[in-house]
Amino acid sequence: MAVTRTQGIDLNGRRPAIFFDRDGVLNEDLGFVHKPEQLQWVAGAREAVSYLTKLGYLIFVVTNQSGIARGFYGAEDVEKLHRVMQDNFKAFGGRIDAFAYCPHHPEAATAAFRQHCQCRKPSPGMIFDLMQKWPVDRRRSLLIGDQPRDLAAATAAGIASALFRGGNLLEFLQAALRELDANNPIQSTTCQSEELDVCTA
Ligand SMILES: [Mg+2]
Ligand SMILES: [Zn+2]
Repeated sequence: MAVTRTQGIDLNGRRPAIFFDRDGVLNEDLGFVHKPEQLQWVAGAREAVSYLTKLGYLIFVVTNQSGIARGFYGAEDVEKLHRVMQDNFKAFGGRIDAFAYCPHHPEAATAAFRQHCQCRKPSPGMIFDLMQKWPVDRRRSLLIGDQPRDLAAATAAGIASALFRGGNLLEFLQAALRELDANNPIQSTTCQSEELDVCTA
């Protein structure tokens, strides 16, 4: 049967998205990473982003950055680091569509960041926010995290998730996408043959 799962845009203009946790998934989690010198790439991370970029995925980073709330570093440090990361992804032919970070913590040193927010994972606020701003096809989307709270945030947002325990991120991603495909009944928006009677959008 010549039904193919489209990797790209569906009839409503929605695209599949991959949400990456940052520390421990894209870069090694050294604890409160906030300087470019502390950036140690996980094997296959930049390749994973360029792979997804070429397939037309939306690609997001969703990261808890309570180091801001704790006064260890500022939002400007996080944003500078994300610009450096983006430059690296671009050098590999990829790009992140949006970096989302939560600067809060319920016991923050700074009053401005001391709150029980909706964005700190396991809450799904960052994912919901991105899904409001971008045309995400939730059914074909996936979050990759290295902690249970990452996966809990994805579940609360109604998207699939996979727990990364180290190794090569590109290989892990490809296996996770195969599994997502296998668990998803085919609802392709592209038909290769006009004889098909099961082409559903
Ligand atoms: Mg992590
Ligand atoms: Zn927050």
